Amino acid sequence: MTLQHAFFRRQQTFIALAAIVMLSFVAVSPARAQDPAEPPGGKPAPKLPAWPSGRIPRSDVSEKDLRGIITQLVACGTRSTLSSWTDPKRGVGCGRDHIVARFDQIAKASGGRLQVVVDKWETSGPRTSGKTIHLENVYAILPGTDPVLKKTIFIVSGHYDSRASNVMDAVSDAPGADDDGSGTAVSIECARLLADVVHKPLRATVLFATVSGEEQGLYGGMRLEKWVKEQGYTVGGMLDNDIVGADFTPGAPHRVRLFSGNGEVDDCDGPARELSRLIEEIDGVHAIRMIFRLDRYGRGGDQMPFYRAGDPAVRFTEPVENYHHEHQTPRTENGVFYGDEEKFLNFQFMGNVAHDNAEALRELALAPAPPTDVILTGAVTPSAKLAWKAEPDAERAGLEVLWRETTNPRWSVYDYVTSGDSYVFKDVSTDNHYFAVRAVGKNGARSIAVPGQPPPRQQPPWMQKPKGH
Ligand SMILES: [Zn+2]
Repeated sequence: MTLQHAFFRRQQTFIALAAIVMLSFVAVSPARAQDPAEPPGGKPAPKLPAWPSGRIPRSDVSEKDLRGIITQLVACGTRSTLSSWTDPKRGVGCGRDHIVARFDQIAKASGGRLQVVVDKWETSGPRTSGKTIHLENVYAILPGTDPVLKKTIFIVSGHYDSRASNVMDAVSDAPGADDDGSGTAVSIECARLLADVVHKPLRATVLFATVSGEEQGLYGGMRLEKWVKEQGYTVGGMLDNDIVGADFTPGAPHRVRLFSGNGEVDDCDGPARELSRLIEEIDGVHAIRMIFRLDRYGRGGDQMPFYRAGDPAVRFTEPVENYHHEHQTPRTENGVFYGDEEKFLNFQFMGNVAHDNAEALRELALAPAPPTDVILTGAVTPSAKLAWKAEPDAERAGLEVLWRETTNPRWSVYDYVTSGDSYVFKDVSTDNHYFAVRAVGKNGARSIAVPGQPPPRQQPPWMQKPKGH
């Protein structure tokens, strides 16, 4: 063997050993290299406008006022929609009278900016024994100051009707302190905070609703959804508050639950979900527990008629419900008390919920309109492209283009643009992320995000909406 041969043999042995080491490494380690960087050079790091100043201080919320209206409502004995509308002492009409009186008081303090409307109608259904019944909703409207945006309406709502164990029982006591005296009180307190205390003009219109007929089949919510459209409004957002008064587990006050239904964009995004995400961003993850579900399992509320109409609509509900205190005629059975009474409420928690709603409404009603016709293209090309339409608005500063991993529940800002109606995500595939865009006002208020989707004519048959849906 020559020296040269020996050298080659050694080298070959070394290569063989190295290969064995590498193969065994691959075999024993499940590790993979990270996903390819997307975009390869890293995403832009734009400077973003600050969020709106002038947050409503939590100390402006009056827990005394929340308690005051609930005490008055409970004292009406029952507020069954099937009870008396004319007796001032007992029945649903007694509840309506107290609500109208409170709204009138706030309207007066606001210098007449708040307008109170009692909306009366009749309906029938399975929970009215097929008979035609009388119903009334009470609305307080704070008109927007922007000539265009005042036709967009943001709604906060609670239902003031209550029920005994038997939903057809109009006679037994049905205190309904939590369900839904609490939501009614939150809606009224939002009116006081935004019309009377804050005194700063909002661009869009805000409607503070208290509705009846919920327990008989969401009649008040259905009526409200129709009514605002008959008045020519576009629904910018609907915040239903139903059972938002109790928080009885240790460590209270906890976060409030915020339910939102899915959308049709990739089976997960839609207006309700986007409203939920924005409310969480405004109020904070410490305040809001987003739940990606239309309502509690198998149950419903007044946000549903809006959701079904394709409007952004969500539901606030307390962290844990006690079913002994809901839909129960007050009584003690085997030493257990049943009934929805004021003594079970936590006004610190309820005050937080009122604050979360009021601040969300304030920022929503300050924001520019969301972009429309948001189209995502760029499939089978290296770069995703988002295009949109945005109405002229001198108060809009720009738009945030958003993205997220498909498994991430929340958007991140990818970039910020001050002009144009499209954006190219250079070297970012259409396939691995979701994309959206939202408007940002000069005041820092953000519109809800609008996710990109294929142009309607390019949607394959299985993505097209069934007719009449
Ligand atoms: Zn309810």
